[in-house]
Amino acid sequence: MIIGLTGGIGSGKSTVAEAFRQLGIETVDADQASRAVVEPGMPALVAIGERFGSQIILGDGNLDRGALRQIIFSDPDQKLWLESLLHPLIRDWIVQRLEAATSPYVILESPLLFETDQHQLVNKTVLVDLPVALQIDRACARDDNQAEQIQRIIDAQMPREEKLSRADIVLDNAQPLESLADRVTAVHQTLLQLCKGSATLSKANSASQVKINE
Ligand code: ADP
Repeated sequence: MIIGLTGGIGSGKSTVAEAFRQLGIETVDADQASRAVVEPGMPALVAIGERFGSQIILGDGNLDRGALRQIIFSDPDQKLWLESLLHPLIRDWIVQRLEAATSPYVILESPLLFETDQHQLVNKTVLVDLPVALQIDRACARDDNQAEQIQRIIDAQMPREEKLSRADIVLDNAQPLESLADRVTAVHQTLLQLCKGSATLSKANSASQVKINE
């Protein structure tokens, strides 16, 4: 079984993914996939260099992500070209790793699970949920970011309410870090039961701090 783990910036996805790994569950990171396919030496980076010129490649051979972002931000055709180049490669990278996993279930961690076709790769979804104000506080504290910058990223992501209505399981992460391991364990138990086919998602097997959408 493949579980999609998602949540907005600063919601606690990475922290929750690490807690699942502590429980022996393998995770595949969609952000890592999007970086991996354009690493130096990868055919996609060569194609990007040919299309946009060598100034898109930094002196150390890495992609100049900022410059590329500028180009596609102002030119929808170039954005489309880039997406049609990268999306199949990212998908293949993810699928390969999901298929290689040997834990009882495997997690696909993706900030844009619902926004992209990545949700089609998973059987169930877990949303790490947080009120927007807390999301901004935590993201600012983590990266020394400006609140306006975080708000812009949040505005570009799917609204919280829509994610809440689409997720199968909602993990409330407004609660303290100290109890996170217990909350993740509760979700883990539910997922293990689902794998065995001995449970369906219903309010009946919902743990106290974990909300199961019917
Ligand atoms: P994401 O991967 O969704 O962007 P992170 O896992 O990096 O988010 O979490 C954002 C910040 O919030 C990190 O500094 C993390 O340590 C912190 N954090 C995560 N969960 C909690 C929590 N329950 N209480 C307080 N801080 C938390």
